[in-house]
Amino acid sequence: MNDRVPVPDGSYVLCWLQQALRARDNPAIEASVRLGNALNLPVLVYHGVREDYPYASDRLHRFILGASVDLTIGCRERGLACVQHLDRAERREKGLVYRLAAEAAAVVLEDQPTFVARWQAERVAARAQVPVYAVNAACLVPPALIGDEVRGRSGFLRRHEPERAAWSEWKDEQANVAPYAGELPFTPDRLEELNLDALVATLTIDHSLSVSTTHPPGRAAAEERLARLVTDVLPGYASARNDATRSEGASGLSPYLHFGVLGSREIMAAVNGAIAGGQHKRKFADELLGFREWFHYQATQLAAPERYDRIAGWARQTLADHACDTRSEQETLAAMLAGETRDETWNACQRQFLIDGWMHNNLRMYWCKRLIAWTPTPEAAWATACYLNDRLSLDGRDPSTYGNIAAMFAGSPSDREREIYGRVATRGDGSTRNRVGGEAWLAAAASRPAPQPSIPAEVPVDPYLTGEATV
Ligand SMILES: Cc1cc2nc3c(=O)[nH]c(=O)nc-3n(C[C@H](O)[C@H](O)[C@H](O)COP(=O)(O)OP(=O)(O)OC[C@H]3O[C@@H](n4cnc5c(N)ncnc54)[C@H](O)[C@@H]3O)c2cc1C
Repeated sequence: MNDRVPVPDGSYVLCWLQQALRARDNPAIEASVRLGNALNLPVLVYHGVREDYPYASDRLHRFILGASVDLTIGCRERGLACVQHLDRAERREKGLVYRLAAEAAAVVLEDQPTFVARWQAERVAARAQVPVYAVNAACLVPPALIGDEVRGRSGFLRRHEPERAAWSEWKDEQANVAPYAGELPFTPDRLEELNLDALVATLTIDHSLSVSTTHPPGRAAAEERLARLVTDVLPGYASARNDATRSEGASGLSPYLHFGVLGSREIMAAVNGAIAGGQHKRKFADELLGFREWFHYQATQLAAPERYDRIAGWARQTLADHACDTRSEQETLAAMLAGETRDETWNACQRQFLIDGWMHNNLRMYWCKRLIAWTPTPEAAWATACYLNDRLSLDGRDPSTYGNIAAMFAGSPSDREREIYGRVATRGDGSTRNRVGGEAWLAAAASRPAPQPSIPAEVPVDPYLTGEATV
């Protein structure tokens, strides 16, 4: 990411993990170990958590810290030093990454195209005195390999599919150098010895969003979900995936993927080895690799994937043409946040976000489309969708977040021109409501007791791009 060369008297290769919180099968760690072996230096893995990233809450913090504990233990088991820091009032550290980088021969960080990780990486690369390498640890096939000027998803798949086999093959690297045991510019936290729930309760973050019980933190919970995918979900995936009323219809893996607790390679290995029909495996691969990695690739091609102006020009135009249409169904931010609007189906969707920190794909489509009619302008609808998804959902703030929301605002144009939506297709709730038991399921889902989120005065505008959050 910069034009510097490795420093000869560095003490280690710094592997700064921002999001890919797993000790094995992690390209950022493997690249660091390979570089360390070549330079005859140990690898120092670092993971830090601050209070000042947008939407920091008990829910997100606890999920991240749980993953971080398992990351450290896993690194130790494979002979790598891993140090952590949880920033808090009594243990503030300024510029820790720069201080760690000052002793390093080189820095390896993550090639993540959205949110905090992207701006942090760019900042560090611009300021560090050592080379900074960005490694993609989120996708099976690194988006950088796809090249530019891809025409649509089918063009992407034509380049992506032939690469999959080779990128499924590599093995974890073995460090030739003893774990780093030298000096550090700070006293690391030993998170595994701390009561994380109690600690999180003391932080200056949003305490109104509780920790998800359906998607608990940690590697063991992720492995349990993966095992459930193989035994319960995959055998019926192609037909059950769109049925939000069935708990075994979808894998629920997206939070673990977003924070890199699981990687797509190990998930695909489990899928390929499962006893399930080919149509189910192909459908799952299409979602995990064909859609998820398409959105990651898209985000790498955009300067600001989180912004409204990323959506297709025709969609912006048709929405602008209808910007002055009367919006009689508008809802307040407070009603939307609390899942207490006049729309039962929407409330059922929103309560999955509120309670579980996750929402079923089929519900997310309806949920997102409705916001276009409920907010004063298309830009406000976009900001509201991103805000709710990013704040509440464990898998939010991801290339898939903005890519999917963009697809709801554009997608294939409708033949019909409607009020407010123009030629943007609308969506009803029939795919859930009209199922056997659908009515009852929605009524129950819409009345689940939910946490009461704190209500801001307004939806933040571009928290992604104005981030002065320091590193
Ligand atoms: C408006 C809207 C917002 C969305 N926001 C997010 C988000 O913030 N983060 C996120 O990860 N996904 C998002 N999605 C995509 C999708 O809804 C979730 O990935 C999926 O619901 C996660 O549940 P699952 O793990 O059970 O999925 P499964 O059906 O079990 O699929 C397995 C994996 O494939 C990937 N996948 C499945 N569907 C999609 C898709 N449409 N696009 C990209 N990848 C997909 C996910 O990584 C998922 O974990 C959004 C979709 C919509 C329509």
